[in-house]
Amino acid sequence: MRVPVLTYHSNNISGNDYARNDHVALAEDLRLIHRAGLRIVPLARVVEVLLGEAAGSTLDGAVALSFDDGSWFDWHDIEHPSCGLQRGFAGILRDFAAETGSAVHATSFVIVSPEARTELDRTCLVGRGWWGDDWWGAAQREGVLSIESHSWDHNHHTLAVTAQREQRKGTFRSIDNHVDADAQIRQAADWLDALLAPHQSSLFAYPYGESNDYLVREYLPRFMHQHRLRAAFDTEAGPVHASSGRWQLPRYVCGQHWTAPEDLARLLDE
Ligand SMILES: [Zn+2]
Repeated sequence: MRVPVLTYHSNNISGNDYARNDHVALAEDLRLIHRAGLRIVPLARVVEVLLGEAAGSTLDGAVALSFDDGSWFDWHDIEHPSCGLQRGFAGILRDFAAETGSAVHATSFVIVSPEARTELDRTCLVGRGWWGDDWWGAAQREGVLSIESHSWDHNHHTLAVTAQREQRKGTFRSIDNHVDADAQIRQAADWLDALLAPHQSSLFAYPYGESNDYLVREYLPRFMHQHRLRAAFDTEAGPVHASSGRWQLPRYVCGQHWTAPEDLARLLDE
């Protein structure tokens, strides 16, 4: 088993070329993956194989996709204030499926707290209500995007107040005790499961890609009956292997681990 998991941020739009726009990069990368003879599998399948619930052969030549932060740019086509109309990530996946007949799937890791998203919409986007959750149910029903947890409020540095009890913000390393883990992880799972029933959230992506020993060795393995998650992903560069730890699964991040198609081609080839 060797599966690269590629991560994109739909909010990354500062131009209309590959290096400055994750929408341009995603569209191009899908075709590169296709030309390389690889295929896209759901991230949940990677976890099933890792946990011994599905045969490893179902991942031959597989790549998985994940999207972080989950704004409207994941789902809707939006007129960007300075870069013009942007095809949403879901539309890019559908276009690719229609063009090639290939199966497509991605997992959107969303920030769950509605209050946090309202505030982030003002502090990180342009305050037009583009961080709503109205599309999560439709996405889950259509089956091209799965909705999973990127924590309650990302412990995000631009929020006035986060669930972290000492306000150590801008990192997920400070989520190092049961109270904070429960607020960021279990609370998010409860909210997602209520909103998207009968779907049950099972995957987690660490905000900022940051984990710590408490979460990896204590909270996630020992309190599964509370948070109900099956695996967690950080942003260490590397493919998922049979020996990867289920609470520290690696992912490659567009713009961080590769910035051009030829870099991605090399990385998929490694
Ligand atoms: Zn994030």
